[in-house]
Amino acid sequence: MSKVIENSSCFYCEKGMELENLMIEAAKLQVSTLYVNKDQTHKGRCIVAFNRHVKELFQLDEKELHLFFEDVSKVAKLLNDVFRPGKLNYGIYGDLVSHLHMHLVPKYEKSSEWGEAFINSPTPKHFLSDMDYEEIVRMMQAGLQD
Ligand SMILES: [Zn+2]
Repeated sequence: MSKVIENSSCFYCEKGMELENLMIEAAKLQVSTLYVNKDQTHKGRCIVAFNRHVKELFQLDEKELHLFFEDVSKVAKLLNDVFRPGKLNYGIYGDLVSHLHMHLVPKYEKSSEWGEAFINSPTPKHFLSDMDYEEIVRMMQAGLQD
């Protein structure tokens, strides 16, 4: 069975190794998919990616826009409940990967980049063990049940 690829040059559409190297799918939301970033410099960092390949928010119709922000908001509450950050940061960049996605980055006082914009691709990256990723994914999935 061949899968439908909306944009084969986009790793969110392609859903192949490039995506898997960067993030782990944690849940399907209303109009988007929740991914946990493998780089966990900021504990709980994740991405909410819209399910269709669109570049800009204004390309969503009113209902999609509403549901996308509901998805983002639900994940934000979950991150706040589970990880207790000082503040959540939100970022939509997409210069290089234009598929609409929002970075949700828990920031912690007296920790990396507090009071500053988070770096999209920090060096060095902070990777976890497979078990620790599974634990984060499990916590997120449990939190989404509430
Ligand atoms: Zn795409």
